[in-house]
Amino acid sequence: RVVVGTKVDQNHVNWVTAYNMLTGIRFVVSRTNAKMDRELTDADFEAKHKFSFDITGNELTPSAKYDFKFKDYAPWVFRHLRTTFKLDPADYLVSLTSKYILSELGSPGKSGSFFYFSRDYKYIIKTIHHAEHKFLRKILKDYYNHVQENPNTLLSQFYGLHRVKMPYGRKIHFVVMNNLFPPHRDIHRTFDLKGSTIGRDFKEEELENNPRATLKDLNWLRRNLHLEFGPTKKKAFIEQMQKDVKLLQRLKIMDYSLLVGIHDLERGNEDNLRDKTLQVFQPGGEAAVEPAPNMLMRTPSKLESARKAKELRHMIKTQKPVPMDQMSNKMPDELQDPKKNFYFYADDGGFRATHEDDDPAEEIYYLGIIDCLTHYSLIKRLEHFIKGIGNQESQISAIPPERYGDRFVKFISGVAKTKEAAEREKAEEAVN
Ligand code: ATP
Ligand code: CA
Ligand code: CA
Repeated sequence: RVVVGTKVDQNHVNWVTAYNMLTGIRFVVSRTNAKMDRELTDADFEAKHKFSFDITGNELTPSAKYDFKFKDYAPWVFRHLRTTFKLDPADYLVSLTSKYILSELGSPGKSGSFFYFSRDYKYIIKTIHHAEHKFLRKILKDYYNHVQENPNTLLSQFYGLHRVKMPYGRKIHFVVMNNLFPPHRDIHRTFDLKGSTIGRDFKEEELENNPRATLKDLNWLRRNLHLEFGPTKKKAFIEQMQKDVKLLQRLKIMDYSLLVGIHDLERGNEDNLRDKTLQVFQPGGEAAVEPAPNMLMRTPSKLESARKAKELRHMIKTQKPVPMDQMSNKMPDELQDPKKNFYFYADDGGFRATHEDDDPAEEIYYLGIIDCLTHYSLIKRLEHFIKGIGNQESQISAIPPERYGDRFVKFISGVAKTKEAAEREKAEEAVN
């Protein structure tokens, strides 16, 4: 069962859903950003606003291609979060309102979530369960405060929480977040690490058909891999991870993982740009490849980009709806990369490996803690359900969040060391 990331265009089954998601985001983000900035209040965390879109439009919403309802949650909180994460509002709108989304990854995983990439590959839209949605709203203030104190957090960066509903359709909740992986670099290996070994093995035989599959803890251990960080980066990385996990433990969150994409600078990118394919992840571990259209496109001139960005800023200010043809995939390239401001994403969007002397090594890691909206009670419920139907295969072990976090930190810290350090440790062990 190989699911390929598919381009979402007019012929795609989820075109209307995706289109409405983008239309809704465009509207609510411009609407909030058009207002003068202000301090957050407690009420902002609970705020929700409902909008009705239809083909004629009304005094509140512009006309849209399709009929749908859209709900925006805590818009001011997310506006502030986007500022904290240094996103330019115009840039955000351009990325998320392209004519169509780069690709969709169907939902073969346990969770049933769908993933969509923005056309420029910077953002991910993930559909989430109602329980996850409710939970994110509940912990939003804790998350917000954590991010203010830890702008270099490794946790997923959330930029928006919304809901879309089509006539007769069900309610679809979704979040917008950062894509950890870069648009311009090949990821040569991907790992999803939890610090557990139960069921954490991707069948090595299948790697042949799926060279870009997401591997797991046992595959990592089998390869005797490390996160190669010299003393300085190692310390910073472990300290941040510990802080982040403390929050997750306090909020009783489980089942998250460290996603690690490795770019090997010696291998570099496939040399033929035309044939370049991007790795598109597929929840569940199998790989999917999709041509990277943005690689084949003409890059806009500086002037053109500047003009586009200016137009967009104007539209945001004047709160005019941004017409679809403005939503081209051309990025204003004069806007600097926000990732540059963040310690773990500052090396070409990632975190470069270092040697024992802190000199740069030949790998860039693209990493972060993902899937952190699962509350302990949900796991317990799932486990119950699975046990109830007597599925022998399932080996979910619902250890409590405290232990989950400790195990996670222990595993990840344990592999965060250079080869030199690992060899030295081995030698020392042999002596004792
Ligand atoms: P499950 O609950 O079954 O683990 P899920 O639907 O909640 O699955 P996630 O664990 O969030 O999905 O993500 C599945 C895969 O999608 C990850 O292993 C990774 O390959 C990819 N992925 C998720 N979030 C990101 C992200 N922010 N950047 C890049 N890739 C991501
Ligand atoms: Ca997961
Ligand atoms: Ca999940």
